[in-house]
Amino acid sequence: MHLVYMLPPKNEGDTIATQGVKQLNAGKLSGMQPLDASAKKYRISFPDDERAQSWLPLLLDAYALCDEGVSIAIAREIKNHGRTLACGRGCGACCRTHKDIPVYPIELVGIYWYVIEKLEEPFRAVVKSQLLSCRKTGACPFLVDNACAIHAVRPMACRQFNVFSRPCADGEDPFHTRRQDVLTPIESYTEAALAKTLPFYGVSAKEAKKRGVSARVLNAQVRILQSCPWAELAPRMDDFDFGQLPSGR
Ligand code: SF4
Ligand code: SF4
Repeated sequence: MHLVYMLPPKNEGDTIATQGVKQLNAGKLSGMQPLDASAKKYRISFPDDERAQSWLPLLLDAYALCDEGVSIAIAREIKNHGRTLACGRGCGACCRTHKDIPVYPIELVGIYWYVIEKLEEPFRAVVKSQLLSCRKTGACPFLVDNACAIHAVRPMACRQFNVFSRPCADGEDPFHTRRQDVLTPIESYTEAALAKTLPFYGVSAKEAKKRGVSARVLNAQVRILQSCPWAELAPRMDDFDFGQLPSGR
């Protein structure tokens, strides 16, 4: 079983995801096609963890496709329209302003895993404290010193939100103030990335090829990052630190 990172089921979508992981672990769902060479350049890997966590390669493949799509879309804007990307390290107004970042169940599992097992000091202590005090209307609990402490597993929505021309002002949502400066992700990459995660939800590679299956299966499962019960993640970090995480993780 690899379910220690799951949020407690809150809706039907979570139950479906839990069943998907069980089927993955039992080898009942076939893997998806391997990434092609161009997407592989964006693939980060955690070999030991990927062997232990059946869902993790799906998520990392999806993020590689997502990042490739974002990179291509940004390059096109720069080349074709002379745009200048405003996003950069140390620019975190978006992580304080946005209160409705969509996140899929597999992404939540990825965040749980990363925060529990991979996050190191000094970020670990800061994030734990922010998890315990985070509010739905506050900044993202993973923002530390204006940078994302979970950069490797930040959600697709964060990866795809890129802004041109000038950095966002505090409190500004450029999607409303200057939509023309917000990158439009390439839909085919988004679709391909989501399709990679379908076995997590109990959908086989064959079923995933059916038109519209990604949207149908996944739309019902989106959660809002800021509304998740993050305080419960902090004691799981302690459990890991003190060697008390349940066996079979
Ligand atoms: S979206 Fe806005 S605040 Fe966020 S990194 Fe880009 S420019 Fe900076
Ligand atoms: S997950 Fe990272 S990138 Fe996304 S809102 Fe939080 S701090 Fe920002």
